[in-house]
Amino acid sequence: MPLYEYRCTNCDKKFEELVTGGSAEIVCPACGSKETQKLLSVFSAATGSSQTVPACARPGCGSGFG
Ligand SMILES: [Zn+2]
Repeated sequence: MPLYEYRCTNCDKKFEELVTGGSAEIVCPACGSKETQKLLSVFSAATGSSQTVPACARPGCGSGFG
């Protein structure tokens, strides 16, 4: 089930809400206000950075027979 994060524009409280589709009314659990704003997805993919070592950074390096 998709889990979305909302922020109440009334009391500025962030909460998560399960949205199963359809016209679900999002109500702030803190103050009960319907003035909520949908935020980005809470699922954040951490991208690992792969370091690539250059084969030869110096000019003239690796020049064998030629
Ligand atoms: Zn609220």
